[in-house]
Amino acid sequence: MKDRKLLMIPGPIEFEPEVLAAIGEPTTSHVDPEFIETFGRAIELIRKVWMAPNGQPFILAGSGTLAMDAAGANLIEPGDRALVLSTGLFGERFAELLSRYGADVTLLPFPLGETVDYGRVKEALASGDYKLMTATHVDTSTGVRVDPKPLGRLGREYGVLTVLDGVCSVAGEELRQEEWGIDVVLTASQKAIGVPPGLALLVASERAIAAFEGRKQPVGSYYVDWGSWLPIMRGYEARHPAYFATPPVNLICGLGVSLNRIIAEGLDRRIARHRRLARAFRAGISALGLSQVPTDSAHAANTLTAPRYPDGVSGVEFLGHVRDAGVILAGGLHPEIASEYFRIGHMGAVTEGEILTTIGAVETGLRRSGHRFVPGAGVKAVQEALSDPD
Ligand code: PMP
Repeated sequence: MKDRKLLMIPGPIEFEPEVLAAIGEPTTSHVDPEFIETFGRAIELIRKVWMAPNGQPFILAGSGTLAMDAAGANLIEPGDRALVLSTGLFGERFAELLSRYGADVTLLPFPLGETVDYGRVKEALASGDYKLMTATHVDTSTGVRVDPKPLGRLGREYGVLTVLDGVCSVAGEELRQEEWGIDVVLTASQKAIGVPPGLALLVASERAIAAFEGRKQPVGSYYVDWGSWLPIMRGYEARHPAYFATPPVNLICGLGVSLNRIIAEGLDRRIARHRRLARAFRAGISALGLSQVPTDSAHAANTLTAPRYPDGVSGVEFLGHVRDAGVILAGGLHPEIASEYFRIGHMGAVTEGEILTTIGAVETGLRRSGHRFVPGAGVKAVQEALSDPD
């Protein structure tokens, strides 16, 4: 019997064998000609995935929080005003992070499970002299998706730099950084990008780079200072490597493979696949009588689902039963409701088969936890949704 379980949490995800194989190759020199080509090509491909032909990509060793740190450290100077649109825990993290760099932060929280109300954002922008505004494309603690288009539009209208935390969205949700006028879009490797944890990825617009270059004070973090990384990124892209700090060679080899696969699938098709599988999974969850944290499926993420436990079901017990049935899911993360819901990641290379296996394991877990429902109702709803024409 195989003892390998299916990992269906909202990151890290299941990685493709080709990506893992590339990471498992013997480590080469960071100035080896083949690695220079891989690194340079990865920078070029990031521009395509972000849809930011004139953006400046950064590939750093670190997690998503480091990508947030890079945006905050390089764009904030002490006393700058920042507006943080929060749809969950990661919005709050951004507020705390920006304050660390001396920003005067206004946190604009939206009710739990609801998405950003841009009417309120416009009011806030009209009444304050902000330098920077952040939003979380998909907040992994709530499963709420935010429409990034008005973010960029309002940023331009009010002359405010915009930063989108795309850790749980990039390469899984629709994103057109340059067309939408967003100044920084950041993510981490372990989610829809499809590479094990360890890479912080971001793309800065020309406007963001100009704001960085116009700083009056030095960047308060040594490691993430764009002044140190710009020559490295530009150097590798020109196929002339330079050194500041050792790049994570093996992970970048895996990244090259994954980005190629994303481009080969086609961004439109990839986003449509995420939407279709997410819609089917939500249909399955509803058919089992479970509600979800996002208050409306119109703003529910396509990269994860956040169902609430039915009355009488204990989360710890349920997740244990699902694990016994072969699937690993995540518990709640938002402190206000952590014990009331669970989370299923469905992003990256996720397939119909994995969605069906997962809903089957959820049914098993619910049944063993004493929840009553029509057996097979979730699986049936998923199958029906998957056979619906788009
Ligand atoms: N933002 C969002 C939306 C996330 O989901 C996460 C990770 N779950 C982070 C930021 C932080 O990323 P990391 O854990 O890789 O530091």
